[in-house]
Amino acid sequence: MHARAFRALERLYAHVTERLAELRLDCRACGSCCALRAWGHEVYVTGLEAACLRAWAREHGVAPQPSGPDACPYHADGACTVHPARALGCRLFFCRSAGNRSEAVARALEDLSVEAHARLRDLHRAYRIVYKYQALPAALAVRTASTGTRAP
Ligand code: SF4
Ligand code: SF4
Repeated sequence: MHARAFRALERLYAHVTERLAELRLDCRACGSCCALRAWGHEVYVTGLEAACLRAWAREHGVAPQPSGPDACPYHADGACTVHPARALGCRLFFCRSAGNRSEAVARALEDLSVEAHARLRDLHRAYRIVYKYQALPAALAVRTASTGTRAP
């Protein structure tokens, strides 16, 4: 995938991070919501996001963990091993206890999510990448050559 598309995605992530800092949400980074199935949480990613995650993990020597279809392969020992490259769905999710949930903040968060996902769709268009939005465990799974079973 095009390196320029990765850089454009990183700029979008940086923008989202800046806006989130202004909202003063209070995620403790406890990692509970990353135990996807166990927590009753789903994260979706696009093709560009999944490719960027894999590339970042490779570059930083992070190996995906065997995880199955209901878990994130980059959730290890209660932490995210690919935190700087995590997807929009990871960045924009906040549980009820994660800080200020006033109506104004909730609306701002919703607006940011709509804006960010629109920009993400635009990136796929601009770099001619097929826009496919799928569950993170499925998007990051690969088939092992020997067994044909799915592994992260
Ligand atoms: S959003 Fe909530 S559950 Fe998820 S990491 Fe932050 S504090 Fe933990
Ligand atoms: S990529 Fe990181 S933040 Fe996203 S679900 Fe996996 S462990 Fe959690």
